[in-house]
Amino acid sequence: MSATPASSTTMSAPQTLLPGHTLGVLGGGQLGRMFVHAAQRMGYRTVVLDPDGDSPAGRASDVHLRCTYLDEEGLRTLAQQTSGITTEFENVPARALSELARTRNVSPAADAVSIAQDRALEKAHFTRCQVPVAPHAVLRSAQDLSAVPDALLPGILKTATLGYDGKGQVRVHTREELQAGWTQLQGAASQPVVCVLEQMLPLAAECSVIVARGRDGQCVNLPVQRNLHRQGILAVTEVFDGHLDPALAQQALDAARKVADGLSYVGVLCVEFFMLAPGPVRDQLGALVVNEMAPRPHNSGHYSIDACDISQFELQVRCLAGLPLTQPRQHSPSVMLNLLGDLWFTQGPTAREPDWAAVLALPGSHLHLYGKSEARVGRKMGHLTFTGADAAQVRQTALQAAAVLGIAPF
Ligand code: ATP
Ligand code: MG
Repeated sequence: MSATPASSTTMSAPQTLLPGHTLGVLGGGQLGRMFVHAAQRMGYRTVVLDPDGDSPAGRASDVHLRCTYLDEEGLRTLAQQTSGITTEFENVPARALSELARTRNVSPAADAVSIAQDRALEKAHFTRCQVPVAPHAVLRSAQDLSAVPDALLPGILKTATLGYDGKGQVRVHTREELQAGWTQLQGAASQPVVCVLEQMLPLAAECSVIVARGRDGQCVNLPVQRNLHRQGILAVTEVFDGHLDPALAQQALDAARKVADGLSYVGVLCVEFFMLAPGPVRDQLGALVVNEMAPRPHNSGHYSIDACDISQFELQVRCLAGLPLTQPRQHSPSVMLNLLGDLWFTQGPTAREPDWAAVLALPGSHLHLYGKSEARVGRKMGHLTFTGADAAQVRQTALQAAAVLGIAPF
């Protein structure tokens, strides 16, 4: 057989991009903003592509291209102005990434992003990597509903694509609720919206792992994070010695690395896990089950900006630029509180700025606000990280801040 000739779509060889180059990011949210901050600190210029003229990242970036993710002219300009391009949310069209990768460093790669965009493909990937997943069924049409085994109820019905922060999910206990949930998630779509029904698992805790994998396959990680979700949205992340069973944390870390290796991933990847409560489900599935992955820095890794010597955003810059990766070290115990728009409405229906001065009076507080002009319930407006010398004291201080802000104790 003859060798395959090089085609015009051959990817360009990745370059090492030293500070001074310009780095691009698809997406203008808070993750893009914190990427821009990290890149600029290291001496890069930045270009953000996002349709919103007032986006958190667009406002921080040297250049903001205001257009949609499939705007050909915009993507051409992004490629012309930058040497490497990353993404800050997984719903960016994979097609845009593969097009850009023809001429520029792009990480993560389009194929990894496509898998992470789709819960069905994502679960198949975890299974391929021999990482246990929640028992589930992929529902592609209304006919598939009757074939759902009883064991998956009660369960959570999730759209296969485009869900985030608990959106696109319905908890269902009976077959009637499953039918109603399916109809609700179909909305006004003309084609069936593919869904995944997952068995509702008895959770003892949740955790996540952020790994960064370079082009040479070298992989480093942040310490395993313990996460508390409320109404499907991350509320609190705690990272300090003794907050997780060390054997389970190691298992999560090993699993996250397998998931990254299995994708030949280049970039920052977050893998979220469920830690199961004792009982028959845990006896059957094991203590640790993977939930999902995000092909980018993650909300549960924000503490790394203030509590680690290398943040998840600096790792993203290093991966994209092909710079060396060294193992990050956490230098302080930390607790991160998400600041949702709800906190602006604790006194009534008119938005009122929370008492930041009271929070900043507490020791070891690091306030991050994303510059969003309008607070809305459920909207991520910022986060607050506490660091200190002693884990119990950091936790105590974070609880004090929570009380000031109107966040329920944890
Ligand atoms: P993200 O913002 O992390 O992308 P998402 O909208 O993709 O969130 P999931 O991570 O699937 O949503 O679910 C959100 C939360 O809902 C989980 O962190 C967990 O607390 C709960 N949850 C989801 N699936 C299950 C399950 N099968 N069993 C029990 N709890 C679950
Ligand atoms: Mg999640």
